[in-house]
Amino acid sequence: MNDLQPLFPSLPATDTPLFIAGPCSAETEEQTLATARALADAGVGIFRAGLWKPRTRPGGFEGVGAEGLPWLRRVQRETGMRTATEVATREHVAAALDGGVDLLWIGARTTGDPFAMQEIADALAGHDVPVLVKNPASPDLELWIGALQRLYNAGVRRLGAIHRGFSSLDRGDYRNPPLWALPIELRRRMPRLPLLCDPSHIAGRRELVAPLAQQALDLGFDGLVVEAHRAPDQAWSDSEQQLAPAALCDLRRALVVRRTDTTAEPLATLRERIDRTDDELVALIARRMAIAREIGTLKRARGLAVLQPRRYEELLARRAAQAEERGMSAAFMRRLLQVIHEESIRQQMEE
Ligand code: PEP
Ligand code: MN
Repeated sequence: MNDLQPLFPSLPATDTPLFIAGPCSAETEEQTLATARALADAGVGIFRAGLWKPRTRPGGFEGVGAEGLPWLRRVQRETGMRTATEVATREHVAAALDGGVDLLWIGARTTGDPFAMQEIADALAGHDVPVLVKNPASPDLELWIGALQRLYNAGVRRLGAIHRGFSSLDRGDYRNPPLWALPIELRRRMPRLPLLCDPSHIAGRRELVAPLAQQALDLGFDGLVVEAHRAPDQAWSDSEQQLAPAALCDLRRALVVRRTDTTAEPLATLRERIDRTDDELVALIARRMAIAREIGTLKRARGLAVLQPRRYEELLARRAAQAEERGMSAAFMRRLLQVIHEESIRQQMEE
């Protein structure tokens, strides 16, 4: 994907991060316009509003559909903002293009469905419109990349990705835990692809949106998609995570955009130190594996079981305590050792 084009060529390159905001759903013409005016006043340049809403279960608000397209036209005309909406079928694509929507996005539930993605890609062939692809709900990077490739193969060159968190049994504080390693790996694999973050769907709750937005910028994301509604508590969908225009304004003002200039001297030096430390880390782990294999041989010679649960639990507890003393979480150390231990066991069994 070496020939991707900027999402909006007429936006100055300095106008980053890209900032998209708007309600989860367009509900009424009045709510759409009132929200848009407030956001335009806050300096937002791109207005999002879902017209077709994929709901996990039937019975929720499923969107106003094509009826909302003229409302988005009014937003363009009356506020000067660009508009964005979600498409999930070829009919949505045709209607949105016909209605003059400036940017389309693919929702998480659609990205995970290769048939739907191919249908959308075919419908987009020959049209020059920017398209952003949200990650699939499942933490499956290949599925995300596959969806992007289908669009690219259909000729879409103004292409980007949106990280919106992943479904998980272990959700912690989040609606969709961020699992940052996945978007970071996407960036490594596709360094030219604009990568945006949707902190609203990760958070699920208003209070968590701003810190997640900052975290995304700190990780080098190129932009944000934030849900905002004139009266969030009355929103017909995702009411708990939408921000009032004033809160959105505060979030924007508080965001710190850090330089990603990698030639800055102290950063380059620090990176070198990280690289050297990682070299040592890999060598240490390899040494540990070699010892584990020796133990494996010994256990076999003596007829002992490979897994010794008591010893393993002691090892975890001791290192978890040590980690805490040194400013790391016990849970992190347990997870790390579990992964290392798994590989040791695999190697012992392979001998
Ligand atoms: C949305 O953006 O309102 C939406 C439905 O998001 P997602 O596809 O990420 O669940
Ligand atoms: Mn939403």
